[in-house]
Amino acid sequence: MNISYISIGSNIGDRLHHLKEAVRALHSHGQIKATKVSSIYETAPVGYTEQADFLNLVVRVETSLDPHELLAACQNVENSLGRVRDIRWGPRTVDLDILLFNNDNIEAENLIVPHPRMGERAFVLVPLLEIAPTIGHPVTGIPFAVTDDDGVVLWKKPEGVEQLLFGE
Ligand code: ATP
Ligand code: CA
Ligand code: CA
Repeated sequence: MNISYISIGSNIGDRLHHLKEAVRALHSHGQIKATKVSSIYETAPVGYTEQADFLNLVVRVETSLDPHELLAACQNVENSLGRVRDIRWGPRTVDLDILLFNNDNIEAENLIVPHPRMGERAFVLVPLLEIAPTIGHPVTGIPFAVTDDDGVVLWKKPEGVEQLLFGE
């Protein structure tokens, strides 16, 4: 069984609904089980400040899929949520990034793990460290640490994976 951490973000429409639907869609895959979910954090966009604030969480999954199959599953979730909602606003209402996959170091054309920009992103690290406080970089072994969590605000406290998956 493989363990992976996936970052999920949304800044269009009903953001909370999109995050929940994304976790539920992953979990409903026969070979993916969501085992932990972080609180939800809100972050002002960096760069394109003309867009709405993001909600982000990190989910820990156990899966028998290989990394490429897991990426395909993530992209299916993006597509299915993007297609049924907010078509006018663009192709994607949620973004799923594979942060870590076991201790693998993957450098394929369409998949780089650990996610190359995760170390600089407080909106990724804060929720990741909430559910995996001692986790380190698979290659260097250096624990991930948040140096500047400016702008990352707790938006919704942890309700547990059961509540997130099966609650209202
Ligand atoms: P960023 O990667 O900086 O967060 P983004 O999420 O907006 O940017 P996308 O347009 O969602 O970028 O993805 C572009 C491509 O990134 C995808 O088609 C996918 O093949 C590739 N990719 C590489 N590594 C990963 C990864 N670890 N998780 C998800 N996608 C990845
Ligand atoms: Ca991303
Ligand atoms: Ca992405």
